[in-house]
Amino acid sequence: MNIIFLGAPGAGKGTQAEKVSEKLSIPTISTGNIIREALKNGTAMGLKAKEYIEAGKLVPDEVVIGIIKDRLAADDCKNGFILDGFPRTIPQAEALDAMGIVIDKVIDIEVADEAIANRMSGRRVCSACGASYHLEYKKPAVEGVCNLCGGELVQRKDDAPETVLERLKIYHSETEPLKDYYSRTGKLKIVEGQEEVADTTALTFKALED
Ligand code: ADP
Ligand code: ZN
Repeated sequence: MNIIFLGAPGAGKGTQAEKVSEKLSIPTISTGNIIREALKNGTAMGLKAKEYIEAGKLVPDEVVIGIIKDRLAADDCKNGFILDGFPRTIPQAEALDAMGIVIDKVIDIEVADEAIANRMSGRRVCSACGASYHLEYKKPAVEGVCNLCGGELVQRKDDAPETVLERLKIYHSETEPLKDYYSRTGKLKIVEGQEEVADTTALTFKALED
């Protein structure tokens, strides 16, 4: 199954994508993680993306489309994949169509803007492997330490409150129109984000079944 997760920054789509990835044994492809990794490693693509990602702006379409093209060509995508954070603009969705990629389901995790701003302040990521945590909703076993690799948990630069507002603005203008784009093909499923991660996961699994 080929699945897209849509939703505002901080809506919890990455967390849900991981749950589905485990259940279906298909990889999650997060453009945000790929770009942050490139930035950390100082690659040419990372340098190109740096100013955008840090300001909370979208990285140019041609850069992310190139990333996705390469990644979807890998062997582990043959039995399906989950896209987390791509597409984020209409041209990106059109590029996916032009590649001949057939999408089975689009899950949109809906969370009100006010709740988003709150949640983002508690988000932490592993500085070594990029795994994502939350001070309230997804605590690591040991405070400040990654469960997976023991790396230090830090706040992302673009999770600073002013940057979050900018990202929400861009989400509404650039990404939200994708709901229309995919509802026209009957693939869109709306999932209301719940207070408890497990409750959202239950709704997500249900949305994938019907
Ligand atoms: P979130 O969903 O919480 O915003 P991501 O990790 O998905 O976090 O994305 C972080 C940043 O990475 C975005 O603000 C943007 O700068 C860049 N980015 C990720 N995916 C895309 C994309 N599909 N198009 C453009 N920029 C992207
Ligand atoms: Zn880690």
